[in-house]
Amino acid sequence: MSTYNWLEAVNVTEEMLLNTDNRLPVIWISALDCTGCKEAFTRSFEPTALDTMLNFISLEYSELLSAASGLQAEEHKEAIFEKYKGEYVLAVEGGIPGSDEFLMIAGKSVREEIIAAAKHAKAVIAFGSCSAWGGITAAGLNPTNSVDIRSIIPENIPVALVPGCPPIPEVMIGTLLHIHFHGVLPVLDKKLRPKLFYQTTVHLTCHRKNYFDQKLFAESYDDEKALKGYCLFKLGCKGPTAFNACESLGLDRCISAGFTCIGCSEKDFWDKGGFCTKKKKS
Ligand code: SF4
Repeated sequence: MSTYNWLEAVNVTEEMLLNTDNRLPVIWISALDCTGCKEAFTRSFEPTALDTMLNFISLEYSELLSAASGLQAEEHKEAIFEKYKGEYVLAVEGGIPGSDEFLMIAGKSVREEIIAAAKHAKAVIAFGSCSAWGGITAAGLNPTNSVDIRSIIPENIPVALVPGCPPIPEVMIGTLLHIHFHGVLPVLDKKLRPKLFYQTTVHLTCHRKNYFDQKLFAESYDDEKALKGYCLFKLGCKGPTAFNACESLGLDRCISAGFTCIGCSEKDFWDKGGFCTKKKKS
């Protein structure tokens, strides 16, 4: 059962909730992605995506979640860029392709579109490990020459990275809500991640840590020790080196399901996480 309370986490008072006049305009552009981040977003419990969109943010454009599509959606996006210049948040999902041939949307280069949209955004949020670090799209031989968001937009534009594959829904929404209620991005760590959610490793707050401290480890996923809930370290758990809020928020994530942490919020996790051993081309 989750113990997460978003009002406390984002430092929002009951009084602040009464101000529902303006919702935060959000433009969500997808680059080379699997849509997993948006799928995750819709599964937030605290608050729900529905509550968030009805009360706090106005999701003006998303290829997957917008009701409109095609020309209508594209025209609306352009209108929002003008109407909310300097006020909208640009959410970017997916690795950014190295050249236009890999991804055009509505006849335009998605890479150029992100650069232009970031210029007048109040803030940019990179949702997911692909936009934050390059992620899966940049893994292995990186055939699309995919890069992270920081590689294409100037340093003076405020950017927060919300890595994870997918990121935790409550962390995505919590970051947006911080901007809505406080007008700015939450305090970030050196790697540009919100400290609110990324200040500790999964291991330090893991509900199996008691077993780790007693050196009680599962030897396989289906042995008796695994059934007892023992620590998964010997099965390759990356919790000790992964900074994320899976365990600290009290949410049921991979380790609760009996699977090791794969460190999906860490840079190059796909190459270093044990799934792929190919070397990048030099
Ligand atoms: Fe640490 Fe992983 Fe063991 Fe949890 S399961 S205590 S994160 S090594």
